[in-house]
Amino acid sequence: MLKEVTLRSPVKPINCLHFINGKYLPSFNGKTFNNINPATEEVLGSVAEGGKEEVDLAVQAARRALKGPWKYTTVEERSKLLRRIGDLILERKEELAYLESLDTGKPFSLAKTVDIPRAAYNFHFYADYIIGVNTDANEQNDIALHYTLRRPVGVIGIIKPWNLPLLLLTWKLAPALAMGNTCVIKPAEWTPITATVLMEIMKEAGLPDGVANLVHGFGTNSAGAAISEHPDVDAISFIGEPSTGAAIMRSAAQNLKKLSFELGGKNPNIIFADANIDDCIDTTIRSSFVNQGEVCLCGSRIYVERPIFDLFMEKFIAKTKELKVGDPLNPETTTGALISKEHYERVFSYIEIAKADGAKIHVGGKRPEGLEKGYFLEPTIITGLDKNSRCVREEIFGPVVTVAPFDTEEEVICEANDTHYGLAATVWTSDLKRAMRITRSLEAGVIWVNTWFLRDLRTPFGGMKHSGIGRTGGMHSIDFYSEFSNVTIKY
Ligand code: NAD
Repeated sequence: MLKEVTLRSPVKPINCLHFINGKYLPSFNGKTFNNINPATEEVLGSVAEGGKEEVDLAVQAARRALKGPWKYTTVEERSKLLRRIGDLILERKEELAYLESLDTGKPFSLAKTVDIPRAAYNFHFYADYIIGVNTDANEQNDIALHYTLRRPVGVIGIIKPWNLPLLLLTWKLAPALAMGNTCVIKPAEWTPITATVLMEIMKEAGLPDGVANLVHGFGTNSAGAAISEHPDVDAISFIGEPSTGAAIMRSAAQNLKKLSFELGGKNPNIIFADANIDDCIDTTIRSSFVNQGEVCLCGSRIYVERPIFDLFMEKFIAKTKELKVGDPLNPETTTGALISKEHYERVFSYIEIAKADGAKIHVGGKRPEGLEKGYFLEPTIITGLDKNSRCVREEIFGPVVTVAPFDTEEEVICEANDTHYGLAATVWTSDLKRAMRITRSLEAGVIWVNTWFLRDLRTPFGGMKHSGIGRTGGMHSIDFYSEFSNVTIKY
């Protein structure tokens, strides 16, 4: 039997345990790995390393919970529970933001104003939304009534990335619970903390044991693969890289699991000469560098119409130089540390590729002076690359953007779409007809005109091509987490 232990946070060390059937537990074999603070390179604490056995225990608990009191909860009861979870997240906003910042290297101010409030809102939004969900009924003349029953899918495996840990976990978890499913969650190995605390919060809110379980560990040959291979997991909700999505799809094929994938992006940011340049620069600073550029929606390929190219570069470079890279806990910091040594080296390797490809680095491209420890990189602006350079084609997922001039609408649409990705795109223009024309031609699941990251959670969110399968948000998530039966009654 596993030994029950309680989570101790936020006192150091912050040790993360699995959470199975309502209890914090270590691994069967006691195996752990270290969690590193990316801003200091110090060990934050240990993380229980799970695998097949822990996942199996969690899946069994989730299956049992599907038949327990959770099965009989009404929509109103689940709505109240979600609301309570959202409230408790807000009550612990400071603590959660602090933990998220320690774990990811992102600025505390960002975690406090974006990640944690949005995590709470994910629960509040679905608490309201689920109340209005109804089912179809179709009367067929005087012959029959067809109506549709909607029920939970079953046990959902939720596998998460590290860039927006609590925000993205709750984005998947809230609608899954709203529909009455049970879950086995695997947070990213780099960022285990806030998911672990969320389990405590949900228990306090009244979530029955076994409804949400969490197993820490890695992907391949570890907890992630164990979830995607498990025959008693009915669906997988995954956010991460396309190559991981492909691996999960192969495992999930063995028992035909339902899949929802939100994958990577190499998003174009297209700026026409008639754009409001100051609005555009302010937003482009965010869309390029917020969260160290570690947001799947970041516009890492910037295309600027030639007449304003020099003006844009001058203003963009000047504003980028104002960004403050450093200690994530300092309220003035705008740009924290990258997630890990491995990722830091990977992002730097793209700067080397750019140099070898003859690019000009206008700003950044190096570790900030005075910061000897931590995975810090100055926000970096690159020009002069051929469209086939790996820097222009591959997702870098760091504070690095490429900028190129363009002359015609046709040319920029062609370049913007010349990628396997299709997650997001941004267009800056004051010509409404052009905006309408361009948005119809862009191959992206999420398109913004004269803004970026403006979200309404009712709208479909997700990518086309290698950027995802399916959409989330509003009814799209509710449908993914629903199983349907159509009933026909002949009169
Ligand atoms: P990743 O694919 O390396 O890992 C994501 C998760 O999958 C981790 O929990 C990991 O342990 C697990 N995993 C790895 N291999 C696995 C396997 N074989 N089977 C099962 N699980 C496995 O991604 P990452 O580096 O954590 O995140 C960055 C990526 O996520 C980027 O590509 C980014 O664009 C993407 N992302 C997309 C969205 C979106 O909404 N579209 C949002 C955030 C991040």
